[in-house]
Amino acid sequence: MSEQTESVDLFIIGGGINGCGIARDAAGRGYSVALAEMNDLASATSSGSTKLFHGGLRYLEFFEFRLVREALIEREILLRAMPHISWPMRFVLPTYKEMRFESDTPTSRLLSLVMPWMKGRRPNWLIRLGLFMYDHLGGREILPGTSKVDLSVAPEGTPLKEHLVKAYEYSDCWVEDARLTLLNARDARARGANIMVRSKVIGAEFDGTHWQVSVETNDGHPRVITAKMLVNAGGPWVEDVIKQRLKLQTKESIRLVRGSHIVVNKLYDHDKCYFFQGEDGRIIFAIPYEEDFTLIGTTDAEHSDPYTKPECSVAEADYLRAFAGQYFKKPIEADDIIWTYSGVRPLYNDGASSATAATREYVLRVNKTAGGPVLNIFGGKITTYRRLAESALGHIDETLGRDTETWTAGVALPGGDFPVDGVKVLRDTLLKQLPFFEARTIRRLIRQYGTEAPGIFAGAQTIDDLGENFGQDITAREIDWAIQHEWVHCAEDFLWRRSKLGLRVNDEQAKRLGDYISKQVRKR
Ligand SMILES: Cc1cc2nc3c(=O)[nH]c(=O)nc-3n(C[C@H](O)[C@H](O)[C@H](O)COP(=O)(O)OP(=O)(O)OC[C@H]3O[C@@H](n4cnc5c(N)ncnc54)[C@H](O)[C@@H]3O)c2cc1C
Repeated sequence: MSEQTESVDLFIIGGGINGCGIARDAAGRGYSVALAEMNDLASATSSGSTKLFHGGLRYLEFFEFRLVREALIEREILLRAMPHISWPMRFVLPTYKEMRFESDTPTSRLLSLVMPWMKGRRPNWLIRLGLFMYDHLGGREILPGTSKVDLSVAPEGTPLKEHLVKAYEYSDCWVEDARLTLLNARDARARGANIMVRSKVIGAEFDGTHWQVSVETNDGHPRVITAKMLVNAGGPWVEDVIKQRLKLQTKESIRLVRGSHIVVNKLYDHDKCYFFQGEDGRIIFAIPYEEDFTLIGTTDAEHSDPYTKPECSVAEADYLRAFAGQYFKKPIEADDIIWTYSGVRPLYNDGASSATAATREYVLRVNKTAGGPVLNIFGGKITTYRRLAESALGHIDETLGRDTETWTAGVALPGGDFPVDGVKVLRDTLLKQLPFFEARTIRRLIRQYGTEAPGIFAGAQTIDDLGENFGQDITAREIDWAIQHEWVHCAEDFLWRRSKLGLRVNDEQAKRLGDYISKQVRKR
């Protein structure tokens, strides 16, 4: 039997970055908020991204100047609020005469009119202009601007084929996408939001004044929560929520575009990324990943159904290997792949012909066809989640007749209250506190927990004081903390979303960890 437990202003469906970002912003403005996520936080798109806070250099080709500018400005605002999980990165973009660009872009169409002889190539001045705009559209205080690289002498040229001699180097930022989502959820909870994981919204009805939202937990407990307004942040499920859960009519639709990545043992020794332009006009990145690996992605493949788990197909893996193989001297073999992951972009359907060309803009629409208001979120990027949340709050204020202030720019996420260049100081302090841990573990703990790390391990004199060690210095102390503070329910939550230690632990260690987590979760 269901029981009525709670009445809130806002009920948010979906615990990806957009749902959690809106929950945080709204809770901080004094709204009462409940959020339901049917699986783990960030279990869908928000852990499957390329993990860049970026303006999106290639979107300049599509004249998406508003989006690029907003995202470029955002990079440094976000970096300052979370210097533990985000950091600057330099991107090396090799150029050569025969380099081909996508034909289905406004830039290509314009060039084919005014410079038809270019046939999909770009004059060098145009590449330089694009990078100039990228440097200046959004302003920069922390990130260095574009420079030239002579690949014939620079270390960045060493792993690349000999014919590649020229490159440009520009700045963007890395972010741990799943932790970003989690930290927004944690901050929302700290500001009063009720965050329910493993809780699926199965339906909602408007009774004339309020929504009655039916939620069912994974272990079958039903619950009804009353709300003035719904926010549908279902990502790839946004249409499923509109049509199947809320039974609403809409003209809006999304396009599901799968993007896959492969992870291989590290291909080179420096800490920069590569931006490769392919013969098909698409681009991919090769990015230093988790100290020992290189991450390569992504693909663009139509994906029909949000309930079909996105997985990297053999064809996609082969495509990425061949693409990177056009640039790296050493071919990447199928056996070199250590891990793959995929995400589904929930892109707003703007009628573009190709997946690559579909807009990366976000679109917010309030639907009142059932009487009660629902704010539907279409599209978006990790980079613009905070701005998207501010726009969402604009619609929410207007609908609920309030006038609240923006506040999230400049407010640190949990563990991120230290200067952008302060990671080393934090590391040195933690190493003094926990001298029994390897330097690699200390680096991981600071990246994972920032200024919260010392408190999590307080009082430990030796590693034995931290309880069972499950391998890779994952101790019972850390796991207990993650269960209590970070909604960890199973080994996968911890190994693949709270951290990426799944890349390092063996099957026996993962099983032991899983057994321990189940036992601790049952006790709660
Ligand atoms: C391959 C790829 C690479 C990308 N790279 C970048 C990048 O480098 N930089 C960048 O800025 N952006 C990037 N993006 C875009 C970015 O990842 C997405 O825009 C963002 O993660 C979308 O977040 P979301 O919250 O809308 O969706 P999601 O993260 O998918 O969250 C939606 C959530 O809703 C939940 N849900 C659905 N229905 C229900 C229900 N009935 N009840 C309860 N819960 C429900 C789902 O379980 C899911 O967790 C990339 C995307 C992809 C796919």
